[in-house]
Amino acid sequence: MPSRDPRYDILFEPMKIGPKTAKNRFYQVPHCNGGGYRDPSAVAEMRRTKAEGGWGVIFTEQTEIHQSSEITPFIEQHLWDDRDIPALARMAEAMKSHGALAGIQLAYSGINGPNLYSREVPLAVTGGPILTFTSDPVQARTIDRQDIRDIRRWFRNAARRSQAAGFDLMCLYGAHGFGIFQHFLSRATNQRTDEYGGSLENRGRFVREVVEELREETKGEMAITLRLSLHEAGALGFSNAEVRDFIQMHGDLPDLWDLAQGTWEACSGTSRFTPEGAQEDLVRGIKALTSRPVVGVGRFTSADAMVRQIRSGILDFIGAARPSIADPFLPKKIEEGRFDDIRECIGCNICVSGDMTGAISRCTQNTAFMEEWRKGWHPERPRPKGASDRVLVVGAGPAGLEAAMQLGRRGYSVTLAEASTVLGGRVARERALPGLSAWGRVADYRMGQIAPMPNLDVYLDSRLMAEDILTMDMQHVAIATGAHWRRDAVARLHLAPIPTDAAMPVFCPDDVMAGQGPTGGRVVVYDDDHFYMGSVMAEVLVARGCSVDFVTPAPVVAEWAKNTLEQGAIQRRLIELGVRLHVSKAPEAIGPDGVSLGCLWTGHSSTLAAEAVVMVTSRIPQDGLYQAVMAADWQGAGIASVKLIGDAAAPGPIAWATYAGRRYAEEVDAPERGDALPFRREIAELLPYAPLTP
Ligand code: ADP
Ligand code: SF4
Repeated sequence: MPSRDPRYDILFEPMKIGPKTAKNRFYQVPHCNGGGYRDPSAVAEMRRTKAEGGWGVIFTEQTEIHQSSEITPFIEQHLWDDRDIPALARMAEAMKSHGALAGIQLAYSGINGPNLYSREVPLAVTGGPILTFTSDPVQARTIDRQDIRDIRRWFRNAARRSQAAGFDLMCLYGAHGFGIFQHFLSRATNQRTDEYGGSLENRGRFVREVVEELREETKGEMAITLRLSLHEAGALGFSNAEVRDFIQMHGDLPDLWDLAQGTWEACSGTSRFTPEGAQEDLVRGIKALTSRPVVGVGRFTSADAMVRQIRSGILDFIGAARPSIADPFLPKKIEEGRFDDIRECIGCNICVSGDMTGAISRCTQNTAFMEEWRKGWHPERPRPKGASDRVLVVGAGPAGLEAAMQLGRRGYSVTLAEASTVLGGRVARERALPGLSAWGRVADYRMGQIAPMPNLDVYLDSRLMAEDILTMDMQHVAIATGAHWRRDAVARLHLAPIPTDAAMPVFCPDDVMAGQGPTGGRVVVYDDDHFYMGSVMAEVLVARGCSVDFVTPAPVVAEWAKNTLEQGAIQRRLIELGVRLHVSKAPEAIGPDGVSLGCLWTGHSSTLAAEAVVMVTSRIPQDGLYQAVMAADWQGAGIASVKLIGDAAAPGPIAWATYAGRRYAEEVDAPERGDALPFRREIAELLPYAPLTP
């Protein structure tokens, strides 16, 4: 094992956090995963891989401390009574398994929690409509002094249960607009006139009381951290200047300051809109205001950038959520000097979308994420090789590259054939689009891993036909030939092609990415895809000098991108670029010099002049090769299995393709499962049945 470059020694220094000592400066800040209370063992095993990967501090996601504040439909942790302790104890045990400190993030959501499940009246510092993503028609009641005493006691209960579960640290959540500590500190959400409102001193009273009481409750044995937003926008917001004043006034209050930029959207911005290290200006200088250590985030994946943050006195700990998801072994790889093995986060926020949709999260880069327990996948350790030897993978997009890499790791003799002269498939094209260059890491990482493998042969410029495959003496064949965008408007709204005049030039993203398509004039972009591609096409066309009309049947542009926290940023960008937005509309027919639009709600038609149309609608799987092989005598050619994977089977986001590649590789030579569920799950414990009498 290569020894550590002394340049990075500083990252591996033990650091005190109150009564505890972290073994190094790698600090996995709390992050959601879509599993939460529903999937306790899946979450615990995911955190265990981080412990194994060398993180010094590992946190849970937000843990709701009381039923009067819960954020259904989002699935986080619960610590509502003692029955929640065993699941969290399992998590703490997993986190501590390799010498990491285990932290629990305690959340009382107040104005942020609609209580759709518990049906309790939401309690807020200052009452008003619930401020969350889902616009629930629910208001919270303003808490009185007794409520404040109750909430403090609920925090005590949570602290006691956290200690019983085995955690070392508690993080009080007051960031992203989500936690009650921020609600008290901010004049936007605290408009009280009693001793808890008004001056900063008064607004800080609640957090002071809670910290003191939790210290007492845990006999000073647990460390207490405070997670604050670095900057809340708006005239009344808890601004960066006030954050600094507060830290100066209460420098020694928590054992560590955990600082996270503004809203969740700002803090977890996608790489398209937010560069690495984006919160540096907001956090610089804060360390000088306190004797306690400071942790901050910034989608850090470069060891040099991390060292700079420490040496220049900006941070004490390197906070990471997404980089730790994409590569749970990031610290270990830095320690062992295995920089080429680091699987860098691409900043796509597909992980976030798992939480936003109440699904279980997945990661584009780390295909094992949240499958560690469910399927026994590991981010680094391959499954042992099975009985067969030779596998052909056709197509080197995200699905084919992942399949080939994982099969290579398992020890198969792998042939990867790619029709074009580059590896990467769709990411080789999409990485050249504005804002999406980081997506190239999907290909770069896998190419870097594949290159030194002696058991893996890559053939570029090799478009295979069914006859080729039958003569290659392969035992298993994966066909990952991708998909192409269609031009006939068929997607969600139109299930059949719309009338189109042949005189109107109609393009799709594949054309635009190939350098074709309009270079000026008035262009209609029709987006019935609702993720990033429509808006990216509009950006490309504006850069080419086109005047762009953006048409979508959704009420906002890039509607699904709310799940990656970038819908607002996309809408803003298009407006700033001068793109004309036509929402809740769709083309009914395409004429020679314009598009006739229908309003989805009224059915009224209008006409939009255009010299070209770009359709961002849906994709057609390229499964012709698969169909041809299936029609031939492949068994007679000695082939045991032929599988269609990735976009060629069912087009989806890149993460779906890498996942499909991983799943294929995991299942080569696996015993037939029949109808058995392909993953483990936990189901609710049934109590002895007895109706409660009124
Ligand atoms: P996915 O996202 O499922 O990986 P992509 O579209 O990104 O799909 O990649 C598919 C890859 O398959 C492309 O690089 C394409 O050039 C390649 N391909 C398509 N047909 C063939 C073929 N017959 N032989 C070899 N490669 C092919
Ligand atoms: Fe990074 Fe995307 Fe993975 Fe999230 S899903 S950790 S943003 S690569």
